[in-house]
Amino acid sequence: MKRLVLASNNPGKLKEFAQLLAPFDFELLAQSAFAVTEAEEPHPTFIENALAKARHASAATGLPALADDSGLCVAALGGAPGVLSARYGGEPKSDARNNTRLLSALDGHTDRRAHYVCVLVLLAHAEDPQPLIAEGEWHGEILRAPRGNGGFGYDPLFLVPQLGLSAAELAEEQKNTLSHRGQAMAQLLARLHRAR
Ligand code: IMP
Repeated sequence: MKRLVLASNNPGKLKEFAQLLAPFDFELLAQSAFAVTEAEEPHPTFIENALAKARHASAATGLPALADDSGLCVAALGGAPGVLSARYGGEPKSDARNNTRLLSALDGHTDRRAHYVCVLVLLAHAEDPQPLIAEGEWHGEILRAPRGNGGFGYDPLFLVPQLGLSAAELAEEQKNTLSHRGQAMAQLLARLHRAR
């Protein structure tokens, strides 16, 4: 079985990705198992940050690495909070503060369009010139008040127009099939199939 390091210390992500990659004979290991510190995410685009995280984990462990970067882009805010989504409301990061700031930033705006983005990068080694890259988008609208208790982050404010429900009102499996992350993962798996 090939060992692959996940450039994240989030146990939820480790479990989800490990299940998806199991048929490909990958054993997915958290970077914390190698005492790898969190990489800097200084870049203005998701892809650059995902590449930086994957390269950092791969260089530190000598193993192939998988990284993801995601966030919310709001049309009326020129794509903000974008790569700054996790800390939009300031430090330390807080979903509640992020949501409060988003609602005030959109106060008076009638254009409520927004989309989530997830970029996944799989590097064979730290110097790999041709990483596998996958990207998913999930389009919706920003509500005027939070709804629902599921999901995380901006989900209570993210309306899925086709369903008339917020992302926080969806069942977990339903969110996983529709979401930016679910779509990016499906794409990455298709690319892995082709690369085999
Ligand atoms: P990261 O990719 O785990 O660093 O996530 C970046 C940030 O984007 C999170 O902290 C959330 O604020 C936001 N975000 C990314 N994906 C989602 C999602 O599926 N639901 C809600 N918020 C999300």
